[in-house]
Amino acid sequence: MSIVLVHIDGEPVEPWIAEFTRQAPEIEARPLDRIEDPAAVDVVVAWKLPQGLYGTFPNLRLIQSMAAGVDHVLADTSRPAQVPIARVVDPWMARAMSHHVILQILRWHRQLDLFEADRAENRWRCGVTFHPETVRVGVLGLGHLGQAVARALQGLGFAAAGWSRSPKALEGLETFHGTEGLAALAERSTALVCLLPLTTETEGILNAGLFAHLPEGSFLVNVARGGHLVEDDLFAALDSGRLSAAALDVMAAEPLPSDHPAWRDPRIFLTPHIASEINLATATTVFVDNIRRLRRGEALTGLVDPARGY
Ligand code: NAP
Repeated sequence: MSIVLVHIDGEPVEPWIAEFTRQAPEIEARPLDRIEDPAAVDVVVAWKLPQGLYGTFPNLRLIQSMAAGVDHVLADTSRPAQVPIARVVDPWMARAMSHHVILQILRWHRQLDLFEADRAENRWRCGVTFHPETVRVGVLGLGHLGQAVARALQGLGFAAAGWSRSPKALEGLETFHGTEGLAALAERSTALVCLLPLTTETEGILNAGLFAHLPEGSFLVNVARGGHLVEDDLFAALDSGRLSAAALDVMAAEPLPSDHPAWRDPRIFLTPHIASEINLATATTVFVDNIRRLRRGEALTGLVDPARGY
C-alpha cells in the first residue's frame, strides 16, 4: 500500500485531504493521526512536520514541501539523506507575492502612514510630492518569486534590479551576483526586497554591514524568512535614519510574541507570514502531478539540492 501523509502545522489538514480526493481519487492521502503503519507511507506532503518524524518512514520515496522554501524540511536531521525533496513552484504564489511586495513599496513610496497620522489629527499636511523615478528596488534572490517580483515592479515603472548566487542575463533587468555584487546592488537601491531561501550562506544577511551600503532613508521588505534579518541591526538602522521604514512579513519567532518591540514601532509595517500563502487548489495540482510522476517513474519537478540548501 502507498499512502501519502499530509500535514500542515497549526492548521486543519482536512481541506487538503478533501482536495487530494477531488483531484486524484486514486491517491490515498491521510493525516498524521490516521497513519497506522509508517511503512506504508511513501510520500510526505508537509509544512513543518514534527521534528524527528521523517526518519520513522522506512519506505519514504519523496518529501514534498508544502511551501516554496524547504528550510523546515532540511532542519530535521532524522530525514533520510537519499529521499528527494521537492518544493512548490506555483505561478499563483508568484502573483500573490508580487501583489504583496507592490503593496508595501507603494505604501512606503506614497507615504500612507503620513496620511493616516494626519487623518488622526483631522488635518492634511501640504507639500507632499512623489517622485517614482527615484524609487530603485533591489531584489535579493532571482528565483521563481524574485524574478516575478522584479518584473512586476518594472511593469509599474520602478527601476528594479536583482541579485543571485550565479550570474544571470535577464533581458532588460540589471543583475548582480556573488559577494561583491551584493554591496553594488545595495548602493543603487532605495528599497531592498529579500526573496532568498534561508540557508547557511543567507542567514543573517540583512545586517548592519549590508544596510551601510544603502542610501540614507531606504526601505526594507523582508518576505523570505525571519532568519535572514538581524533584528538589533534593523532597529539601529531605523534609529540612525539609514532605513526610513521596514515591511516585515516574516520574523524569527512566529507567531510574534506579544512583547516584541516591532508591534509598537510605527516605522515597521507588520504582516503575519501571508505575503504568498499556499493555494489549496493550485498547490494540490503541483503535489498530485509530482506524486503521479513518482509512481510512473518519471522525473520529478521542483527538486531542491539539499547540499546547497534550496
Ligand atoms: P528559488 O526559486 O529557489 O530562488 C532562490 C534565489 O535565491 C535564486 O536566484 C538563488 O540564486 C538565490 N540565492 C540563493 N542563495 C544565494 C546566495 N547565497 N547568494 C545569492 N543569491 C542566492 O526560490 P523562490 O521560489 O523564489 O523562493 C524564495 C524564498 O521565498 C523561499 O525560500 C521562501 O523562504 C520565501 N517565501 C516566502 C513566502 C511568504 O509568504 N512570506 C512565500 C513563499 C516563499 P541562483 O539563481 O544563482 O541559484
